[in-house]
Amino acid sequence: MVYVASDERYEVMRYNRCGKSGLKLPAISLGLWHNFGGIDSYENGREMITRAFDLGITHFDLANNYGPPAGSAEELFGRVLARDLAPYRDEMLISTKAGYYMWPGPYGDWGSRKYLLSSLDQSLKRLGLDYVDIFYSHRPDPETPLEETMQALDHIVRSGKALYIGLSNYTAEQTSQAVKILKELGTPLLIHQPRYSMLDRWIEGGLLAVLEENGIGSIAFTPLAQGMLTNKYLNGIPENSRAAKPSTALNESRITPDVLRKIRALNQLAASRGQSLAQFALSWTLREGKVTSALIGASRVSQIEENIAALANTDFSQEELDRIETILRT
Ligand code: NDP
Repeated sequence: MVYVASDERYEVMRYNRCGKSGLKLPAISLGLWHNFGGIDSYENGREMITRAFDLGITHFDLANNYGPPAGSAEELFGRVLARDLAPYRDEMLISTKAGYYMWPGPYGDWGSRKYLLSSLDQSLKRLGLDYVDIFYSHRPDPETPLEETMQALDHIVRSGKALYIGLSNYTAEQTSQAVKILKELGTPLLIHQPRYSMLDRWIEGGLLAVLEENGIGSIAFTPLAQGMLTNKYLNGIPENSRAAKPSTALNESRITPDVLRKIRALNQLAASRGQSLAQFALSWTLREGKVTSALIGASRVSQIEENIAALANTDFSQEELDRIETILRT
């Protein structure tokens, strides 16, 4: 069936300005790290992408290595774009990244100019696009000079293959240095993509301040701690969940009695606000405009629908915030 986007697609979503740039991001964005690979159902992936778009999610986040196999999430997204979303390309923000292992030999990993430029060309082919909206250096490279990685990003924007650039997994200090180099080059850093959730708050220790100071936006990945901050693991590990699957970044050993105690207490607090734990965790991530967007993953359409409904209540009383701190601290 031919996909036609919903006329109501801009009615629920909130769009936040990305730092001091001209660009706005949806408060909730969708990432294709898991469940959109060659081993997954194309139809399910397509349904999630098109439903997300119907709900106002204009931003889709990819990377060269998402799959498995690596590259296949970009291929799946490219197919959906060509078949369903091509007429809406200018309503969409599509990002990809390079920085992790992609092909053998010395040029298929990390942050050299050689790797970043060829990887982006490969990504564009898989996506069937002439340009992406945001291209990221996926992680800092301890061996390549930061200047070389930043010059490659600057070149990519000037060549028209990306409209904006971002950094992911860079520390506050590395980000500060990169911002300086990029300013000199004349291509500003748009956005940082760090890990951030109630269970991992490292960015509060300096990175957020660097971003604020320099007018840079942020998009928090794994805001649901890969599913731990949902009702999924409250009573064991269900079949088909990420923690039940082999070789994913989440396994049973991460869901410790300490984590379980916290998420059960948070779940009760969420219920008292009339929210599911997933909605509560997303609202918290977005509180007080701390981050521009929360970057969720999903394995089915119903999760995206549930998660978007978080936007109905993103305000917290001081008492609620204090109770959350107490739960997370003990
Ligand atoms: P989340 O923390 O949002 O976890 C998503 C998972 O949580 C889903 O796959 C699903 O797991 C579960 N889930 C989501 N909603 C619900 C719900 N309402 N009820 C129950 N379970 C739910 O994020 P991800 O870990 O998926 O990461 C999101 C994106 O962030 C990635 O796709 C990627 O774009 C980006 N990312 C970037 C990284 C980087 O280095 N820059 C690293 C990691 C991620 P299940 O499959 O078990 O149903």
